[in-house]
Amino acid sequence: MANQHTQILIIGQGLSGSWLSYYLQQLNIDCIVLDENKTNTASKVASGIINPVTGMRYVKTWMVDEAMPAAIKAYQEFDCIEQKNMLEIFQNSSAEAAFKKRINEQYNYVKMHSNNWNYVFNYNSSVGEINPCYLVDVNTFLQQQKIKTISVEEKFDETFLKVENDKFFYKDIIADKIIFCDGISSSQNKYFKHLPFAPVKGEALIIECKNFNRDYIFNNKYSIVPWKDDLFWVGASFERDFIDEHPTTKFIIETTNWLNNFLKLPYKIIDHISNIRPANISRKPFFSFNLTYKNIGIINGMGSKGVLYTPYLAKQLATEITQEA
Ligand SMILES: Cc1cc2nc3c(=O)[nH]c(=O)nc-3n(C[C@H](O)[C@H](O)[C@H](O)COP(=O)(O)OP(=O)(O)OC[C@H]3O[C@@H](n4cnc5c(N)ncnc54)[C@H](O)[C@@H]3O)c2cc1C
Repeated sequence: MANQHTQILIIGQGLSGSWLSYYLQQLNIDCIVLDENKTNTASKVASGIINPVTGMRYVKTWMVDEAMPAAIKAYQEFDCIEQKNMLEIFQNSSAEAAFKKRINEQYNYVKMHSNNWNYVFNYNSSVGEINPCYLVDVNTFLQQQKIKTISVEEKFDETFLKVENDKFFYKDIIADKIIFCDGISSSQNKYFKHLPFAPVKGEALIIECKNFNRDYIFNNKYSIVPWKDDLFWVGASFERDFIDEHPTTKFIIETTNWLNNFLKLPYKIIDHISNIRPANISRKPFFSFNLTYKNIGIINGMGSKGVLYTPYLAKQLATEITQEA
């Protein structure tokens, strides 16, 4: 087979690799994306939430003031984003107190919500609103960007990668630079395994629930997120100790117990999905080049915020590449 030359070879076509390919194309830099196309990946199972506050103490998400406007504009190009605020139906008094503390600190993004949801949920707390939150149809974005990209569908195997005279040879592909956007696989890769990856497994159920409100994302022990048609995404777990990426019976039992107590409407389980978030100890993404091999880069470590961070960071890395080219 004839060799194909490309300026950038991207490994991985999740959110990181897809946004990088998009911005390289915008800057007229050619790229080939190699991905093994698994049915479930972190990006494919993500609910798609962009949430400006994080965690049990509702702290402002790192870099949100810069990354959120960039993400909104980017996903609008694919017509796959809408504002959907999150209603926090507090699980306990300490969550409620933490939220109210942020309001008292005149924190942007949080306020109390006055509608009563007792006809849908069993709860006896007040309700907080995170505003604005956004919901992205991640799979639509991934599919649309894949169509516009030269993609190779196969598993990347590091033993075939050769470096000669500052060029990368991978089977019949010759590239000037290689950027790893392969999620948790980079934690095994010889160029980046020193980075402080701390993978976190997440599972979710897809349920059908007719006539349920689709205007908000509801959050209690788990989130209930509008999915397609009458479907809702329910999750997710955060599991640091796990055997593999596959769905577990434990999660179904825990989630259905919670749903049966919390949700007053009938529902049917349609699917059970799971994968591993490429999280890291510092909770800040990696996007840079290897210090020794200057033409080997990475965009990774997105944790549970890949929808928010990838457009912003991929654009920055693509711009850096143009400046060097
Ligand atoms: C249940 C769950 C819910 C989530 N919900 C949200 C959310 O609402 N909002 C949010 O911001 N984030 C969410 N996340 C996190 C988000 O999914 C990740 O931050 C993001 O998807 C990471 O994207 P990525 O492209 O870096 O990695 P990945 O999505 O893991 O993509 C890596 C790609 O590389 C490919 N690949 C890996 N190894 C190889 C190889 N050897 N050869 C070829 N290809 C390879 C894979 O096939 C994959 O396509 C969620 C995650 C989970 C698990």
